[in-house]
Amino acid sequence: MARYGMVIDLRVCAQCRGCTVACQAVNQLPPDERWVELRSTSVGSFPSVRRITAPVQCMQCGNPPCAAVCPTGATHKDSKTGVVLVDAGRCVGCRYCQVACPYQARVFEEKTGVVAKCIFCLPLVKQGQQPACVSQCIGHARTFGDLDDPNSEVNRARRDLKAMAVRADLGTDPSIFYAS
Ligand code: SF4
Ligand code: SF4
Repeated sequence: MARYGMVIDLRVCAQCRGCTVACQAVNQLPPDERWVELRSTSVGSFPSVRRITAPVQCMQCGNPPCAAVCPTGATHKDSKTGVVLVDAGRCVGCRYCQVACPYQARVFEEKTGVVAKCIFCLPLVKQGQQPACVSQCIGHARTFGDLDDPNSEVNRARRDLKAMAVRADLGTDPSIFYAS
């Protein structure tokens, strides 16, 4: 059992969009479909809220509103890794998840009728590799690992860099944290 998460250090992020491209390549996405996007957003909780420009993707919520509204169970949390997955075979394209996601992380695929998103490159991770956005980051801005292991690299980075979640006040329990 694990709960995979990530820290993104914006102090060394070059904002080059390499993560977006690496994700598109690994997941064979068309050029206009992006599971990772550079955006302006807020980190922290009121009253300590700051605006940042950051690569944003599915936050792999511990309490995912997208899964709660999915009528078919297509969107679900993997019990072994905590990663929120989309079973394309069960997705009916109703887009409820897209409306429920407060991070605008879901992407409707016209071609397949599925509402897709980042899955932390779980097939690669299961083979012992890192997600593509981590391994291909030229600034080494991303640290990935098990948030349930207090000694993991990702937890050390989270503590040392005082990394914060985006809109932690929403109660979604995100698994991605930003240092700025
Ligand atoms: Fe679902 Fe959005 Fe949370 Fe990802 S960020 S788990 S798509 S609610
Ligand atoms: Fe579930 Fe698919 Fe509907 Fe999203 S679009 S809520 S994944 S059935």
